[in-house]
Amino acid sequence: MGFGFLALPDAAGYVLEDATVPASLVAGHVPTQPRDGLVRADIIVRDGRVAAVGAPGAPRPEGLAAVPLDGSMVFPCFVDAHTHLDKGHIWPRASNPDGTFPGALAAVGADRERNWSADDVRARMTFALKAAHAYGTAAIRTHLDSIPAQIDISWPLFAEIREEWRGRIDLQASSLCGIDIAVEPGYLDRMAAVAKAAGGGLGCVTYMSPNLPGGLDAIFRTAIDAGLPLDFHVDETLDPTADSLRQIAEAAIRHRWSATGNGTIVVGHCCSLSMQADDVVQTTLDRIAEAGLAVVSLPMCNMYLQDRQAGRTPRRRGVTLLHEMKARGIAVMVASDNTRDPFYAYGDLDMLETYREATRILHFDHPVGDWPRAATATPAEACGFAGRGVIGAGLAADLVVFRGRSWTELLARPQSDRTVIRGGRAIDTTLPDYRDLDRLWS
Ligand SMILES: [Zn+2]
Repeated sequence: MGFGFLALPDAAGYVLEDATVPASLVAGHVPTQPRDGLVRADIIVRDGRVAAVGAPGAPRPEGLAAVPLDGSMVFPCFVDAHTHLDKGHIWPRASNPDGTFPGALAAVGADRERNWSADDVRARMTFALKAAHAYGTAAIRTHLDSIPAQIDISWPLFAEIREEWRGRIDLQASSLCGIDIAVEPGYLDRMAAVAKAAGGGLGCVTYMSPNLPGGLDAIFRTAIDAGLPLDFHVDETLDPTADSLRQIAEAAIRHRWSATGNGTIVVGHCCSLSMQADDVVQTTLDRIAEAGLAVVSLPMCNMYLQDRQAGRTPRRRGVTLLHEMKARGIAVMVASDNTRDPFYAYGDLDMLETYREATRILHFDHPVGDWPRAATATPAEACGFAGRGVIGAGLAADLVVFRGRSWTELLARPQSDRTVIRGGRAIDTTLPDYRDLDRLWS
């Protein structure tokens, strides 16, 4: 058992005194003047909820225990908008032979056919969720490989696991298959029924297939008829001719998606945009903004897969154009993506790691501004996790307290001694032991 560096009182009410909080993550009035996106605040916690976020030393109700933070940073619990809980942690039996995208596709496909029983997927999903919970994530959207033979295994299992984890991690799922499978007769109707029954959404991988235009229309029609949200894997390549991102935005406009009430369309990766000519980029960004798409970058997975050639140093890193998007008012996010599977050999669903790597890879600094929203408030809004990703009066006291007091202290170290508060109480932050999974391949 371990509860991090901070000792919390055994009391229904207490004050986290002199916390350092990202100003962009305070819901409502920001109590002091931000410096580099940060403010000092006292956070009053009562009966599992945040009662107030006020200036340090502001008048407070009597009888509350004091917890001096001396500047320690406090985040709301993280929201991870793009993961693959069903693929996670298969690396010991299904590594990527050469670290490439085709190598990943082949290795995962073979492992799925051979090994993805309900028991196998459950063990790995549970392991991943334990880690995410211990790191301070409170909401996750996962994609589920939805090749026809896998649908009846993974989706009912997901619905069970979502119930088991209710109150610890809010879970959403989105279907995943290539656009060429999505257009097979009967597939979308079946998938929509399954996703609807499980409270999930529809998605697919889009790339330059002859089936793309017709497939997109079919997916949009199906999602609108069934009242389902959409989430796409888009142009995960450095080929500049890949422009399915623009085609998705145009389909959303053509189908009048914004009037459907089916939520925000999320598009992930969008790597080829980083390789396109400026006029092409500008047109696509115009369409994304008009369509109201939300974009999620998966920087760690991009760094691993993109521009990999044996014996040659990678030069083009594949992350999409988040700064340009954000400047236009497009919702932008970062998320974990794969964990210890052939698409990414590493990763553990620690959103602080994702944010730290995003800061380095995508330059979320100088100034930091409201970039912290990309791992918290924006994914909560885009995915529809109500009440998540911000700190404010009346919201659950679901907080992560770091020893670090500033951006440099926070991001220079992994913050392995963080304290995670859920419903006002510190939770056990012990990570699951990899040995727990050994039975799956011994
Ligand atoms: Zn993904």
